[in-house]
Amino acid sequence: MSIAIHPSVDKGITPGKTDFSGGTLVCHCKERPVKVSVGTQSAHNHVCGCTKCWKPDGALFAMIAVAPRDKVKVTENEDKLKVVDEKATIQRHACTVCGVHMLGRIENTGHPFYGLDFVHTELSPQNGWSAPEFAAYVSSIIESGFDPKRMDEVRSHLRELGLPPYDCLSPPLMDFMATKIAQASGVLKA
Ligand SMILES: [Zn+2]
Ligand SMILES: [Zn+2]
Repeated sequence: MSIAIHPSVDKGITPGKTDFSGGTLVCHCKERPVKVSVGTQSAHNHVCGCTKCWKPDGALFAMIAVAPRDKVKVTENEDKLKVVDEKATIQRHACTVCGVHMLGRIENTGHPFYGLDFVHTELSPQNGWSAPEFAAYVSSIIESGFDPKRMDEVRSHLRELGLPPYDCLSPPLMDFMATKIAQASGVLKA
């Protein structure tokens, strides 16, 4: 049986456009959809197996990228948004009607990723967003009920798609976080 990772990667990955400068994310509501403007190209796009990221129906993974917080703005129907879990590091603002997560924001200024919002670029009708580059938190799909015996199959399928599987974030992002923490503690110079 073939594995559906995510609708945006299952038929092959579309490369991003270098001159792309952003677009509008739209939730799934037919009436009064929430709209979020992202005024720049996305970065670090990836698929994520964690249990917190919003996944479309039937998908094993979410697809998620980052954009600078000052470029991300709710432009329509903000009243429908609510933070899913106030205690989570990433405050995921979800549409209370359709359930789609419109943006994830970190409010802790000491966090290495402070200043970057998490966005699902698949919610935008525009083409050209940066393509997913890797798979994060792959082992976590088991926490959502996926059969642990099929994990080899999932990891080899991810490699075939060109998404190297990691059980946390990718090495460059883990290095980025560790560097910020080392700079904050003073063991490395900023
Ligand atoms: Zn909605
Ligand atoms: Zn996730």
